[in-house]
Amino acid sequence: MKNQLSEGLFERSKKIVPGGVHSPVRAFRGVGGTPVFVQSARGVELQDVDSNRYLDFCMSWGPLMLGHQDPEVLEAVQGALHRGWSFGTAEPYSLELAELMTQTIPWLQKVRFVNSGTEAVMAALRVARAATGRSKILKFDGCYHGHVDSMLVKAGSGLAEMASPDSAGVSAQVASETLVVPLNDLAQLKQVFELHGSEIAAVIVEPIPANNGLLLQKSEFLTEMAALAKKAGSLVIFDEVITGFRVAWGGMAEKSGVIPDLVTYGKVIGGGFPVGAYGGRADLMNWVAPAGPVYQAGTLSANPIAMTAGLATLKKIRRENFYSTLEMKVDALANELEKVGQKAGIALKVQRAASLFWCVFGNIKTNDGFVRHPGQTPEEHKAIYSRVFHALLNQGIYLAPSAFEVSFLSRAHQDEHLNRLAETLGSALAKL
Ligand SMILES: *Cc1c(COP(=O)(O)O)cnc(C)c1O
Repeated sequence: MKNQLSEGLFERSKKIVPGGVHSPVRAFRGVGGTPVFVQSARGVELQDVDSNRYLDFCMSWGPLMLGHQDPEVLEAVQGALHRGWSFGTAEPYSLELAELMTQTIPWLQKVRFVNSGTEAVMAALRVARAATGRSKILKFDGCYHGHVDSMLVKAGSGLAEMASPDSAGVSAQVASETLVVPLNDLAQLKQVFELHGSEIAAVIVEPIPANNGLLLQKSEFLTEMAALAKKAGSLVIFDEVITGFRVAWGGMAEKSGVIPDLVTYGKVIGGGFPVGAYGGRADLMNWVAPAGPVYQAGTLSANPIAMTAGLATLKKIRRENFYSTLEMKVDALANELEKVGQKAGIALKVQRAASLFWCVFGNIKTNDGFVRHPGQTPEEHKAIYSRVFHALLNQGIYLAPSAFEVSFLSRAHQDEHLNRLAETLGSALAKL
């Protein structure tokens, strides 16, 4: 694979951009090597500046439920461009998207658009604190909620639930407002609610944790969590930035039947443009300015191009309702991948949910054979994944450049693409 041009651009970029990239995982630190600089993409294919073409299973980290450059989204966006691309006023496009969302998702009574998942989380936490008059937020170790300070925390070394900063620049004081509980440990969750319940404004959770691998939780996890929160008078925030409109139209709330008080969206709802949203109970959303005293604003919020792209994406998803087709495809793919692992004598389990899947390499040492929290990921997983990543990249297949990120299937992925992944993985594993 020739990549002189990517290498040249990376060298130039490193001089003026931290680490050469605008979001850390893009730098390939997790897998080694030089990141490919992509110049265009269509359908399931990326093309880099050296003219290499890749079958894409990263799909911009989740927004592209319809694949790259879906023709309907493209046409809608082209139309929108001719109307102007930012007004800074009230406009009808976000209203149409907000109505589509609220009319089809009963627990989403009111919604506010922002520009990213991070912003959505930040605002939802502020609303929760205002509405409850409490300051602490409970999160789970292994869930990611964007880069707002209070969520960049990890379990501390002392009292299990006390958090410490997980990024330089996050103050210990901010971290101390966050309680961190392990995934897959209802006993500890219960204990933390007993100790701190009356101080907890909200518990925030990725209802399917999908940012440290795909950490499938047992079915009682969400119901028990919601029951404990309710008893303590704490709100439940579902961070559905990945799962919203992806695992089902109504996200994991629909699938699990557990109704959150507040919910955050991102990724799919912008169809690849920068959009986030938070919403939920009307009485909570009425705290938001100018209806209420919780300040939150945005120069480019509800940008008409981004709203149009999101609307075209969601309308197509709703019309075609291809959730079960995608789920069946992922199931078949996962079985195939596990088979080629077996054939090559390399332990491989493919954890999956709807159109998300995560290849776990190495021996999983849990009783039920699943990785349910980050500490259960086999030690050898990262090293094997890195080698697999580069072997596939050389053969024109692009997985997420990190062993702890999930893969995404889109409507554009056909059986031939899935077969190609299985075959290529088979020969890569045989050579390991
Ligand atoms: C991606 C993601 C975020 C952050 O969204 P950005 O748009 O990257 O700021 C937050 N929560 C979850 C669950 C995510 O997957």
